[in-house]
Amino acid sequence: MTPHPRAPDPEGLNLEFYEHASGGTLHLQQCTACGRFRHPPRYRCADCLSAVYRWTPSPGCGRLFTWTVTHRPYDRGWADDLPYATVVVELDERVRLLGAFAGHDFTVLHPGLEMQAHVDVTTHGFPFVTFEPASGPAQTRD
Ligand SMILES: [Zn+2]
Repeated sequence: MTPHPRAPDPEGLNLEFYEHASGGTLHLQQCTACGRFRHPPRYRCADCLSAVYRWTPSPGCGRLFTWTVTHRPYDRGWADDLPYATVVVELDERVRLLGAFAGHDFTVLHPGLEMQAHVDVTTHGFPFVTFEPASGPAQTRD
């Protein structure tokens, strides 16, 4: 039996990000003074240094920035999913977000590929961000 994957244990601003994601919707931290989005969450805006922010829903659209394919389990809880790709996507809000590629055909991955984020709560009870090509569902393993 495969062990459970290690669950995130967020605190501070990351906790706020995960609380929003637990509802199944991606939210990004946005400066209320100048409107700039930021991720990962920070206490101050890098542009105007304001400490005031809000959480804004994001449609999760962006382009693939980079990825890596994992063949050996770092966390044995994900061993049944091997090999899998972890992707970094630059969202339309100009922040980069890490997530899992939803498919197993890694030949489709290339820089600039239009991607769509999904936030789902795993069977283990924590939110998880996945990406698939915006042109349609990623090919999954049977
Ligand atoms: Zn700002």
